[in-house]
Amino acid sequence: MTVSIVLFTADLRVHDHPPLRAALDSADAVVPLFVVDDAIAAGGFATPNRRAFLADCLADLDEGLRQRGGRLVVRSGELAAEVCRVAAEADAGAVHMAAGVSAYAHAREERLRRALAGDGRELHVHDAVITAIAPGAITPATSGSDHFAVFTPYFRRWSTQPLRGALPAPRRIEVPAAIGSEPLPRRADAGAVSPGLARGGETRARAALATWLRRGIATYEDLHDDMAGDATSRLSPHLHFGTLSAVEAIHRSRGGTGGGGGAGPDAFVRQLCWRDFHHQVLAARPDASARDYRTRNDRWRGEEEAADEIAAWKEGRTGYPVVDAAMRQLAHEGWMHNRGRLLTSSFLAKTLYVDWRVGARHFLELLVDGDVANNQLNWQWTAGTGTDSRPNRILNPVTQGKRYDPDGSYVHRWIPELKSLDGPHVHAPWNLEGLDRAQFDYPAPIVDLSESRARFLEARGKE
Ligand code: FAD
Repeated sequence: MTVSIVLFTADLRVHDHPPLRAALDSADAVVPLFVVDDAIAAGGFATPNRRAFLADCLADLDEGLRQRGGRLVVRSGELAAEVCRVAAEADAGAVHMAAGVSAYAHAREERLRRALAGDGRELHVHDAVITAIAPGAITPATSGSDHFAVFTPYFRRWSTQPLRGALPAPRRIEVPAAIGSEPLPRRADAGAVSPGLARGGETRARAALATWLRRGIATYEDLHDDMAGDATSRLSPHLHFGTLSAVEAIHRSRGGTGGGGGAGPDAFVRQLCWRDFHHQVLAARPDASARDYRTRNDRWRGEEEAADEIAAWKEGRTGYPVVDAAMRQLAHEGWMHNRGRLLTSSFLAKTLYVDWRVGARHFLELLVDGDVANNQLNWQWTAGTGTDSRPNRILNPVTQGKRYDPDGSYVHRWIPELKSLDGPHVHAPWNLEGLDRAQFDYPAPIVDLSESRARFLEARGKE
């Protein structure tokens, strides 16, 4: 009997899974394997919120495999060593896995390839499993660069690329009986810190996509910035853990099953392209996870210098209601509306002039969809060290609040202390005549917007 291993990483699904399909096609039996990787925990990336969501994903993947006659094998330790151990136990000839994007993922693949080769086994790495278009598959025609540094030309090229077809889930999966598994990690043991954290797993991801295509996507273009409306897909954690395939989401949005094309679906697919865009930047510039993608001579204030302001930002008590509401949403849900992410990151990096890495670390600590490519490169975008073509734009939290939460419902939801202030007034409570501050248990602004704007522009002007 021939055996292959399919190693799951950020692709915790049975639908549209090219490595699983290839493993099944090339052997009589398959070991579906997930390794709880010591290095990810040691690197601080396995945060409680994401470990809780991951536990849901693994339980559901196990269930999906069992429905097809298989099961998930879980091991923990150093990834290459564990895969080699299972390969030896199963006498597997090959391992199939999805290509990763980060520097860590590349190093992991190389280590695994070498370790397996030492035992005479092969590693097959499959592209376009985690992203829709593989990083590096398209490059700018004229500049000779290995990646696109600007979104719009990338989007133009990306949109004309043929996507591989989405694969159905396999009907039957045979797993060798002798291969043992550790118990699956349990959500309850993860110690999630956000009480409103979403639940994970492929079943939920597929149901969420179906509901989104039926009921949300048509109005996405008009409502995606309505903070109170909460009218985005909330599919990001499912995409991050790969319980939903980006390829399948795009096909179905464009009209395969349930979607149907139009302004809403087009705008949604464009956002999925942003995901691929940041992944291809990170794949080409792995150090952009920590280093400025474009150096701008910033003299960021660090954690010690701005300790009080950073604490106020994290705790949602800056005195700017829409910033505080969004930060409280992050703490409560482990997720934040995109408009909130934009304006809170701009507030930290530009208004408080704090190093974007401080904010990115806090987001990664809490976000259930926290993702090195999307988080670090979006932070760089708002800090003006990344791919934004207007690196000095500053989002004014009062204007943003009035525009994207005009009746104050989003602020009211997260800052009940301000419930009695209606409409646009809630975004600048200090402006209200005759306001009795003592009536509200809410702080005064920690920073003056025009002074902070001048500080930032002066610093940037010295470049
Ligand atoms: P929708 O609006 O429904 O969009 C659909 C999908 O498109 C998202 O699920 C996501 O996969 C992708 N997408 C949308 N916007 C972006 C974007 N700007 N960049 C990359 N992909 C995008 N997204 C993450 O998935 N993980 C992160 O760690 C992350 N950190 C961010 C940090 C900052 C400072 C900012 C400004 C944005 C960040 N984003 C991140 C991007 C975006 O805010 C989230 O993807 C989005 O809010 C998730 O909600 P949704 O699924 O309802 O999105």
